[in-house]
Amino acid sequence: MTTTTTSLSTVTLKAKRDQSIRRKHPWIFSGGVKHIQGDPQAGDLVKVCANKGRTLGWGHYAPNASIAVRMLSFDESSPDDSWWHSQIAQAVAVRRDLNLFQSDGQNACRLVHAEGDGLPGLIADLYNGILVIQCHTPGMHRTLPTLTVAFREALGECLVGIYDKSAKTLLKNGGQASDDGWIWGNAPKEHCATEYGHQFDIDWEQGQKTGFFLDQRENRSLLGTLSQGKKVLNVFSYTGGFSIYALKAGAMEVHSLDSSQRALEVCEKNVRLNGLSEDCHKSIRADALEYLKTDTLGEYDIVVLDPPAFAKRASARHAAIQGYKRINLRALQGMKSGSLLFTFSCSQAVDDAMFTNTIVAAAIQAGRTVRILHRLHQPPDHPVNAFHPEGSYLKGLVVRVDE
Ligand code: SAH
Repeated sequence: MTTTTTSLSTVTLKAKRDQSIRRKHPWIFSGGVKHIQGDPQAGDLVKVCANKGRTLGWGHYAPNASIAVRMLSFDESSPDDSWWHSQIAQAVAVRRDLNLFQSDGQNACRLVHAEGDGLPGLIADLYNGILVIQCHTPGMHRTLPTLTVAFREALGECLVGIYDKSAKTLLKNGGQASDDGWIWGNAPKEHCATEYGHQFDIDWEQGQKTGFFLDQRENRSLLGTLSQGKKVLNVFSYTGGFSIYALKAGAMEVHSLDSSQRALEVCEKNVRLNGLSEDCHKSIRADALEYLKTDTLGEYDIVVLDPPAFAKRASARHAAIQGYKRINLRALQGMKSGSLLFTFSCSQAVDDAMFTNTIVAAAIQAGRTVRILHRLHQPPDHPVNAFHPEGSYLKGLVVRVDE
């Protein structure tokens, strides 16, 4: 029995357009579709066949979108309840084996990372027993009742509540607006999660994405190892992930800069939650580029630049690269000799080589000598499906800036 729909629509691909699907790449572009049998609606489960009729698998359909089908299974038979349960059980087992959510000092991680876990359109982040789900496709959203049972089964007592935060992401992807809210369990009094012993207040209701950026965990940890006695500027700080690691590791002073007053308020709350001295921390509400133009940059030993995605799609790539170059040029022009720059891009459309070249171009223009000390990526709870290299979205460099 299929759990998402009873539709029997079939999407048949043009000749030779099945090659990437045979390699288990999960996207079918509308240009590769030869014809559609039936009248599938947004989010319906469809069968996908090769030109000569062989079944290639099953996926969620999206009309009027460049990606017409996001593949779920590559089997003859359609995904049933046991298929969904097995996918969720596997995703949970990966994080359990990584020790990411079952200890006092570490109870927050991403449990499902869309294509990276074979579940395109589904993001699920766990914060101390609260699972925050963001569906990016109507098909995934319709599957929530099955997913709820599967998560409860896989997580057992580790799960306290499930919050659906899909309203905005669904609207952007051709779905109906549904209200965000609890789909299982209750709202806890405390919104606090622990990451490597650091406490964070997570505002999944009003905050950005699912409330926190779990993808920077390992990179924040690296910053901690380099921060003792240092003066740190955290640009695009959001709720202060990098700031808290630096302060806890003994930074002399940390400045968190963001344009969002709300994010800075949560950041200050996080400073208090961790028992850190407020005298060592300052919030700066400003536009990043404007602040980077001021002559204060020379005061800092370490600068972190972690902007939002500048390119949401490939067509915006050129403008995004200009944006990355602009902020990094400003930073490199103003930073003192011997300082460190942690610089990131979370744009899927900008790959590692493009990002590195952009930083090198900024360094040449700034006339600075830079050494690349670390190349950084997303952590293992944001896995990359080997057949879908596009999933490797977070890239960063730690560079030492000299003369
Ligand atoms: N580094 C953060 C995540 C950054 S998310 C962490 O580890 O949690 C990007 C942040 O950039 C958001 O908080 C957003 O409010 C902020 N932002 C976006 N445009 C900005 C601008 N022009 N100037 C300053 N902050 C900006």
